[in-house]
Amino acid sequence: MMKIVVDRARCTGIGICEAIAPTVFEVDDDGGLVLLSQLVPHGVAAEVAEAVEGCPTLALRLEP
Ligand code: SF4
Repeated sequence: MMKIVVDRARCTGIGICEAIAPTVFEVDDDGGLVLLSQLVPHGVAAEVAEAVEGCPTLALRLEP
């Protein structure tokens, strides 16, 4: 199962990842990214991969 890694220095809290995969990514009221799951849950792998690719600041990556 792949692990989601956030580079907090790069994340600007725009929330594109949340828009693509809301079951995994949530931006709180202060613009901080909250991972609702550290591991990619079954059934949403495609959305999570899309969110990782769609992050404009390249703040997300997946690790084995
Ligand atoms: S899309 Fe990227 S920069 Fe925007 S909240 Fe998600 S991880 Fe942060």
